Amino acid sequence: MMNVVEFFRNLPHKKCHNCGQIISEKADCYGNLCDNCDSPAR
Ligand SMILES: [Zn+2]
Repeated sequence: MMNVVEFFRNLPHKKCHNCGQIISEKADCYGNLCDNCDSPAR
């Protein structure tokens, strides 16, 4: 059975689906948008 930590460690970096920027690790609950594209202050 696969270790969950290993599973997440092996994931590729997320990229913003809007602009293609690499998303930092804290964004795992944001979907697939970077800070710029996901900003509520647009
Ligand atoms: Zn973006």
